[in-house]
Amino acid sequence: MFEILLSSNNAHKLHEYRCMLEPFGIKVLSLKDKGIVDDADENGSTYFENSLIKAKSVGRFTDMPIIADDSGLEVVALGNFPGLHTARFAKDCGGNEFANPEIIKRLEKYDDKSANFMCVITLLNVDKEPVQFLGVCPGIILDKVYGEGGFGYDPIFFSNEANIAFGLASEEIKNRFSHRAKAAQQLVKYLQDIKRI
Ligand code: IMP
Repeated sequence: MFEILLSSNNAHKLHEYRCMLEPFGIKVLSLKDKGIVDDADENGSTYFENSLIKAKSVGRFTDMPIIADDSGLEVVALGNFPGLHTARFAKDCGGNEFANPEIIKRLEKYDDKSANFMCVITLLNVDKEPVQFLGVCPGIILDKVYGEGGFGYDPIFFSNEANIAFGLASEEIKNRFSHRAKAAQQLVKYLQDIKRI
């Protein structure tokens, strides 16, 4: 199996990547598996920069193939807020339990509920230069929290393409239509094209 190290401390992301990539012969190792402790300072001004920062930060410890992702929720009527600050906003609210109703409240006065989940994956240590893949998942912000599935902002997000709220969707559905899935599908195709898997 082709081994790849995920530069993330997020157990949900790790689980999703394992579900999405293992069927293609890619074994996803965690930082814990490799005994690496890292928490990169995400001070970039785009998802591309932050994703690269996370990949390179772990690249200080190993030459093995690495993937890192940076993601966010962009609510159109709020000027694409929280965007790059998606993780920070949840933290400042005291967790998604509070951040999710807050997003719904801020959107109350707008008719346009559209939003996009964004994800950029960086692949490091495979080609000479890092390679990046962008995944976008279009949807709308719901009027209340739905379901127990997924994580983060999933309970307030209805995926247009999956035609279901991510909080109610099966793992299989989320891992086919999410922003992370879209980027991961391109990653798989890239690795297939260069015959690494
Ligand atoms: P980061 O990519 O680790 O910086 O996370 C960005 C923020 O987006 C965090 O608050 C995550 O909880 C949230 N987020 C990222 N991916 C998802 C997802 O698939 N569903 C719901 N929230 C997500």
